[in-house]
Amino acid sequence: MLRRTKILATLGPATDKPGVLDGLIMAGVDVVRMNFSHGSAQDHIDRANMIRELSQKAGRRVGILADLQGPKIRIARFKDTKVFLNEGQDFALDINLDPLAGDNTQVGITYEPLAMEVNPGSRLLLDDGRIVLDVVNVENMRVNCKVVVGGDLSNNKGINLLGGGLSAAALTEKDKEDIKTVALMKCDYVAISFPRTAEDLNEARRLLQAEGCYAGIVAKVERAEAIVPDVMDEIILASDAVMVARGDLGVEIGDANLPAVQKLLIKRTRELNRVAITATQMMESMIDNPIPTRAEVFDVANAVYDGTDAIMLSAETASGKHPIKAVEAMDRICLEAEKQRIVRISDHRMDKEFERDDEAIAMSAMYMANHSKIKGIVALTESGSTPLWMSRISSGIPIFAMSSSETTLGRVTLFRGVFPIYHKIDERHDHAEVNRDVVRELRKWNIANNGDKFIITKGDLTGVKGGTNALKVIVVGQGLTP
Ligand code: PGA
Ligand code: MN
Repeated sequence: MLRRTKILATLGPATDKPGVLDGLIMAGVDVVRMNFSHGSAQDHIDRANMIRELSQKAGRRVGILADLQGPKIRIARFKDTKVFLNEGQDFALDINLDPLAGDNTQVGITYEPLAMEVNPGSRLLLDDGRIVLDVVNVENMRVNCKVVVGGDLSNNKGINLLGGGLSAAALTEKDKEDIKTVALMKCDYVAISFPRTAEDLNEARRLLQAEGCYAGIVAKVERAEAIVPDVMDEIILASDAVMVARGDLGVEIGDANLPAVQKLLIKRTRELNRVAITATQMMESMIDNPIPTRAEVFDVANAVYDGTDAIMLSAETASGKHPIKAVEAMDRICLEAEKQRIVRISDHRMDKEFERDDEAIAMSAMYMANHSKIKGIVALTESGSTPLWMSRISSGIPIFAMSSSETTLGRVTLFRGVFPIYHKIDERHDHAEVNRDVVRELRKWNIANNGDKFIITKGDLTGVKGGTNALKVIVVGQGLTP
């Protein structure tokens, strides 16, 4: 059985070990994430080349997502690498302090405007919320705080403001430099960290396109500002995919608010014909352990029920002890979850009027597939729009996106229930000939047997964007079909 939910795995030191990348691909990774918060440009280029080589060998297309670091706000360093903070003590964040001179009473910061953007009573969360500081006052760019939750604090840990509101622009100078590397690497997707508005994403797209890169843009929703209803819609519409970035988002809005936001974001993203990724701590305990906790099993399955397109692994694969087992665990949990009726029925856009014929055909194909005996759907696609529309509908029927466009084949690696197949169509072929070619291709991949019924969607002029205007039903081995 084909798994519909896509697995996105972050690369890092653990996947550089011999045999691990092959193992990840064998275990079913669909897309890999290059995390630009760590490693040099050359590391990412080497890993991307490795992935391309191995995926070619395995005969399975693996997408590449580059994740830009963005304006993660951090403390500077301590004289002795780390300090211990006691509850109730005073502690200051000071832009004017020597960045290497932190101690038990104060530490430098890398973000100039902090002193202007907090007020007495503001709550700062350090190291993903493990340390909590309340602002007492601000004097001369020095933010004086009381420790509310203490513990170990080490060099360069991140800072979030509860409720959001830090103004840092989404694209830093480093990100702009990294965009050039990303363009060279020919990534399928680029993730933008901490976008505040659609404009942050538009700017990223402009910069990428100026470098000749047409990668899909992923908006990481990880700021409180980004989930205000109108802003949320704008951000979704300015992106190709949306990541529920539960790590930073949970720190900004409070962990208890995450489940509702995850459900809402996934639902809205799908309604607006965009792709959803659920990320962070899905298999956290597998950084050390060979099996997930029961709670993690439920988290993965629940994300599938919520309708996510992809689920993501971070440290579990990048630096954990069991990267391959983490992917295998996700794979088996998804396959079981996908058997549930709730993820196979659909009321998506039942009350909507479709604006375009190609969109209406995509919807009709899904309606037919979900209500009759169909083995699979083949979308002959140039732009990838048809399989995107199709995969917004919940279904148990696989969608094969056949295209000769590398950009499109890379793009669909994230779409739930969509499987990329390289297929070149000769524009002069007549319809019967095109159908025969499609069946030959399906047979090559052992997807089609005699008597199987498939839907094919295509245009009169294959190889033209937006041209889908036909829905054809064929039975393998019957009539004109081989
Ligand atoms: P990160 O983003 O792993 O780059 O921080 C994801 C998240 O914040 O959840
Ligand atoms: Mn983050």
